[in-house]
Amino acid sequence: MAKGKLIVLTGPSGVGKGTLLRSLLRRHPDLYLSTSVTTRSPRSGEKHGREYFFATRPEFERMVANNQLLEWAEFAGNYYGTPRQPVEEQINQGKWVVLEIELQGARQIHKTFPDAMRIFILPPSMSELEQRLRHRASESEDAILRRLERATLEVGAANEFDIRVVNDDLDEALDRIELALFVPRETVAV
Ligand code: 5GP
Repeated sequence: MAKGKLIVLTGPSGVGKGTLLRSLLRRHPDLYLSTSVTTRSPRSGEKHGREYFFATRPEFERMVANNQLLEWAEFAGNYYGTPRQPVEEQINQGKWVVLEIELQGARQIHKTFPDAMRIFILPPSMSELEQRLRHRASESEDAILRRLERATLEVGAANEFDIRVVNDDLDEALDRIELALFVPRETVAV
């Protein structure tokens, strides 16, 4: 059986990765979205095991020590990581696995899985990103500022990725992602 493939989706907090991903998975239910572990508190409406596995810091640190995470990073004061076992299982079964992770994690994956396809989602502008983050109203001012600071750093690293997609119009952004994933490179006009 052909080996699966790893797809990494990265982009600043508030850029709309979640919405893009939900639409991508609706169009391609055969894709497997990895569920991360995090030490941040659940937002309203988030469910353990669906958006994230919510863990305490000692629990997370134990997972790191036991080598149970494929990659992990600290982001805006919390830990986030990708559980190793489900991802390896899916890839061994020939599945395409999507990781929605931040920059440091994407860099780790680039080292351990050099064949992974890495996609960076860009906001139309930084002021638009700030508006989207504030509109979400799920974080404190301090957390929003930390996320904005981090966003500037991440956007500066966008060139490290295989492709960059501006999330201005959702359908156009989705089309570009699909093109990158499903159309062989040599048939794409550049
Ligand atoms: P949020 O708190 O907004 O859900 O996520 C904050 C950031 O953490 C986002 O950029 C998201 O992509 C990233 N993230 C989510 N899960 C993981 C993970 O497993 N590993 C890493 N490195 N980043 C993650």
